[in-house]
Amino acid sequence: MVERFGFQVNATDGRARTGIISTPRGEIRTPAFMPVGTAATVKAMMPESVRATGADILLGNTYHLMLRPGAERIARLGGLHRFMNWDRPILTDSGGFQVMSLAALRKLTEEGVRFASHIDGSKHMLSPERSMEIQKLLGSDIVMCFDECPALPATEDQVAKSMRLSMRWAQRSRDAFGDRPGHALFGIMQGGVTRELREESATALKSIGFDGYAVGGLAVGEGQEAMFGVLDYAPGFLPEDKPRYLMGVGKPDDIVGAVERGIDMMDCVLPSRSGRTAQAWTRRGQVNLKNARHQDDPRPLDENCTCPACRNYSRAYLHHVVRAQEIIASMLLTWHNLHYYQELMQGLRGAIAEGRLSAFVAGFHAARAEGDIEPL
Ligand SMILES: [Zn+2]
Repeated sequence: MVERFGFQVNATDGRARTGIISTPRGEIRTPAFMPVGTAATVKAMMPESVRATGADILLGNTYHLMLRPGAERIARLGGLHRFMNWDRPILTDSGGFQVMSLAALRKLTEEGVRFASHIDGSKHMLSPERSMEIQKLLGSDIVMCFDECPALPATEDQVAKSMRLSMRWAQRSRDAFGDRPGHALFGIMQGGVTRELREESATALKSIGFDGYAVGGLAVGEGQEAMFGVLDYAPGFLPEDKPRYLMGVGKPDDIVGAVERGIDMMDCVLPSRSGRTAQAWTRRGQVNLKNARHQDDPRPLDENCTCPACRNYSRAYLHHVVRAQEIIASMLLTWHNLHYYQELMQGLRGAIAEGRLSAFVAGFHAARAEGDIEPL
């Protein structure tokens, strides 16, 4: 078992990389997809089932956990890993993004953000120092800097001001984090879709020095073309020997495009959220299990998938439990979606390691272009 956080790139193919992040709680194979365990649970999944899909690491949300059940309470109960029964690595976000998107009565100052809880209206403060304290109480393995992500649409001037505030907060986060062997602190690059601002942000972060670097402020409604436009240059501003994390991404084709552009880690609620709304992600694209075409279909969702939903149940059954609003519908479809995402990551890692990423990506797009199997 390693004592310290580390990262090693084992192979590259074009700009894509595959490697291993080592932590005292286990290894994370990259490129990695992190399922989101918002409120100390990946909704509709047992932790051992999440692990069975191939996940090496989960994401927890500081904003949600500080409000309910509270970071101090989780610390008293032994930390987030023990509390939620997940002994592998956990990354926590800083709360910055969600406080801006969910909380009421927000007041942003140089100090931080004062806000009212969206749950009960109680008053709270998040600052770089408090965010570091909360993530330490949770026992997070990978801690994110407290930053600000401006709401879109924003002018270039607003994006620049916000980015510079985030860089001052990054320094305060670094100072407050201190020296915690075995735990990592990641900086977050901002700067919207402006190349000069992205470069300025990366330069500021590198001079502070972090264990990894996130590309923030994307996947917030700018569209895939604009996101890939930024990813064509932004990862190149970051150190080669540290993990690069694209926050909040994404759909399967977003993930493939990001990996091609040198991203090592991603997270998204999409596979789990879709699983609760009857949407399945497969090699051949998206399937809506609500659709009546499935009601007499004895075939599996995906005959090549080895997840329990595909191995043991028919499309007709999945359709039935969706229509009857049975809990097992969310369980099976979330499992399938997470399994599909992890299998995609495994495919990407193998393709990069063997220098056949472009063929893999061509196959990925070809299968999706075929669309779902013909109705019976
Ligand atoms: Zn499946």
